[in-house]
Amino acid sequence: MTASIYLAKGRDKSLRRKHPWIFSRGIEKVEGSPESGETVDVFAQNGQWLAKAAYSPTSQIRARVWSFDKKNIDKAFFVERIQQAQLLREDCIERDGLTGYRLIAAESDGLPGITIDRYQNYLVCQLLSAGAEYQKQILVEALNEVFPDSNIYERSDVAVRKKEGLKETVGVLYGEEPPESVVIEENGVKISVDIKNGHKTGFYLDQRDSREQSTKYLKDKEVLNCFSYTGGFGLYALKGGAKRVINADVSQPALDTAKHNAELNEFDISKKRAVFLNADVFKLLREYRDQGTKFDVVIMDPPKFVSSKNNLTSGANGYKDINMLAMQILKPGGTLLTYSCSGLMSADLFQKVIADAAVDSGRQVKFVERFEQAADHPVDSAYPEGFYLKGFACRVF
Ligand code: SAH
Repeated sequence: MTASIYLAKGRDKSLRRKHPWIFSRGIEKVEGSPESGETVDVFAQNGQWLAKAAYSPTSQIRARVWSFDKKNIDKAFFVERIQQAQLLREDCIERDGLTGYRLIAAESDGLPGITIDRYQNYLVCQLLSAGAEYQKQILVEALNEVFPDSNIYERSDVAVRKKEGLKETVGVLYGEEPPESVVIEENGVKISVDIKNGHKTGFYLDQRDSREQSTKYLKDKEVLNCFSYTGGFGLYALKGGAKRVINADVSQPALDTAKHNAELNEFDISKKRAVFLNADVFKLLREYRDQGTKFDVVIMDPPKFVSSKNNLTSGANGYKDINMLAMQILKPGGTLLTYSCSGLMSADLFQKVIADAAVDSGRQVKFVERFEQAADHPVDSAYPEGFYLKGFACRVF
């Protein structure tokens, strides 16, 4: 018999609004003894049936809803969700000429804990919840049905799995092991992705729209691309006609791929038009400031600084510090393209942080454009947490 959880009085409000998380403190009792990841029925205190959810015994988020309907959580369920997600993305796949995109954005696609990126015919899964882990085999079968020619690889080497009582794991789930380089295309730019060793599932697909929108600021400009990873914005800078672009990152493999990517696109990188610099951005910015080196455009796309509510203040200070330094090394009238992928930092707070950086840098700053995660990273209206990536174009005087 399916195990059940009963919510405490008044703790059913968010579920009735179709938010998929059930916190441990909101549960009055558990009937039966569900194992990690097993599907349970969820009831309100008055006994009304609410949802089917995956039980996670060690996490604060004690259960994540698969369905608000009484359907079975089986292969057909996953096939339907995957097909819906693919359909939602068809416009942007077509428009932006994509052979790499986020197929499943977890909660935002009704599949909590499951992220799947598609690179050509490789589907790369990141399973972050007990429920996702429990359903792994069925998920693989469903993916196989929707994309019969695809290989499926797991990149669940993510520390947050610990909260769900899961170990980190990587490897082939179906088909062939990915080669070192799978070349995808977006907006006419070719990008080599190392699925096995790259960050996350291999590439930062979420910044695609921001990369494309950045090009209009870059023609004939001297550009500093901070936290470049495998080229990203730097490749679009070359596409957009930048005079020169310095890509700075601490990862040598990422920089090597960045150079390879520039060559793959046959961009002219002779006469040091593109430089790939192994440097700690925090130090580099101070060096440029102290030397008086100035740029027309600085791109600032750092890793996530805020990982929990407890470090919101220190994370905000980190963003303020690097953006202040970026402003200080811009020529008058220069452009700062700055981003934050910290979901816990709202766009409003990020704007305030940039305003503080403006004060500390002694520069006058005008916000001229706003950016968000690309369309293959949708946000379900019931799950506002799905919105995490924001950015600004600022003119700095
Ligand atoms: N802009 C990229 C994604 C950036 S991801 C794109 O569009 O694809 C963040 C990058 O920051 C990673 O490549 C990581 O290696 C790099 N990084 C982290 N700390 C750093 C530091 N202190 N200095 C330089 N690079 C750093």
